[in-house]
Amino acid sequence: MSPDVIVVGAGPAGATAARTLALGGARVWLLDRHEFPRNKPCGGAISARALTRFPYLEGQLHRIAVHPVTKLHLESPGGCRSTPQSEDRAVLMIRRLDFDHLLVELARQAGAELMAGVEIAQAAMDEGGVSLTSRDGRRFRAPLAIAADGVNSVVARRLGLNPGWPRSSVALDMMEETPIETLKCAEPDALWVSYGHGGSAGYAYIFPKARHVNVGIGYVLSHFREQVDESPYELQRRFVDSLARRGLLHGVSSRRHFTPFLIPIGGPLPKTAHERVLLAGDAGGFVNGFTAEGIYYAMVTGELAARAALGSARSPEPVATRYVRSWKREIGAELRDSVLLQRYVLGEARRVDLAVKGAERHPRLARAVVQYASGRRSYWSARRRVLLRAPGLVPTLVAQGLTGHR
Ligand SMILES: Cc1cc2nc3c(=O)[nH]c(=O)nc-3n(C[C@H](O)[C@H](O)[C@H](O)COP(=O)(O)OP(=O)(O)OC[C@H]3O[C@@H](n4cnc5c(N)ncnc54)[C@H](O)[C@@H]3O)c2cc1C
Repeated sequence: MSPDVIVVGAGPAGATAARTLALGGARVWLLDRHEFPRNKPCGGAISARALTRFPYLEGQLHRIAVHPVTKLHLESPGGCRSTPQSEDRAVLMIRRLDFDHLLVELARQAGAELMAGVEIAQAAMDEGGVSLTSRDGRRFRAPLAIAADGVNSVVARRLGLNPGWPRSSVALDMMEETPIETLKCAEPDALWVSYGHGGSAGYAYIFPKARHVNVGIGYVLSHFREQVDESPYELQRRFVDSLARRGLLHGVSSRRHFTPFLIPIGGPLPKTAHERVLLAGDAGGFVNGFTAEGIYYAMVTGELAARAALGSARSPEPVATRYVRSWKREIGAELRDSVLLQRYVLGEARRVDLAVKGAERHPRLARAVVQYASGRRSYWSARRRVLLRAPGLVPTLVAQGLTGHR
């Protein structure tokens, strides 16, 4: 029997959408080009607020290795440092190999049908539905499709929703996820993040996990293409060596575990839904432009797209309109602010210094941001606290259009 909805891509966005649809009584096919478990290049840091937003996760995470972290070491190009800390777990470190498989299993248990090994190559839409064709010629059709096929979404491209990311709207994140037998973090209970690394447009990080460490450097793609002469892996090896010399890491880089990959950091696409297709996760550009956090937003948009689809029978309003309104209401402001902050703070190394110094001088400000990440404070409350504690920021933010209210 043909499905009510086809979800393309079984990452966090697609698996969450499929689970929500199946629990809501829809017939859903979840298509992915890979067999699961499969890996996805990713730091694997999920802000703990995901547990508040998706309460069913708490009771399931014991099935995989999760490493909770409470501390963050921040560094700036001018040598400023700050170490905000939370009383409670602020970030959960997972491996995507495990986490994505868990989400797919939850979708299957809810009743979604997983079709693995299906790589969609063509997509077309007409008045009656969406037709998808796989690379090996199989055809799939449903009245509605959710495209959750990641940053290089074929569905978004074929249907004209994404003509291609401008180079200033994607970051090239060059990262390895290496077992601790080869490379070990000196402080396994803390994340280390350096903003403005190798020029203001870059960042670097060390993320400890239960049995692995993720280490990487990211650059806005335009900066990487224009300013960086080295190959991605040479850059990485030299970076890991420098961290080892500083005593932040023990061991050596592993090329085998190195996987450079793109992240959309320019904010959601101008059009994230059209008639019978809804884009979720990276396919729609739902990533925090300042932190490059995407897993949380992928799950949120996957769920909202599914809810919009489930509400179609009851509402005279088009599903695309309802979906766009719902994501704008829940995450629109924070995603917009994140891109403005990225462009402002990371626009000059001096501003990165000021931001890190600010976090050190105003611990209550840093605490508010950590509480937001851990789910104990809303975005709006954290934002208000930051603007109150750092009144010097206000004139600048006014100029940037950042102080608007809901
Ligand atoms: C190096 C790196 C580090 C990152 N670190 C973090 C981090 O620490 N924390 C965080 O929150 N975010 C991080 N991100 C971002 C995060 O990985 C993404 O935002 C997140 O994976 C988006 O989820 P998604 O479900 O939209 O897409 P994906 O996770 O990319 O899943 C897409 C799925 O679609 C499938 N697919 C793709 N094309 C097709 C096709 N044509 N046909 C069928 N199936 C297809 C793929 O196989 C895949 O399973 C990082 C990204 C990178 C690149």
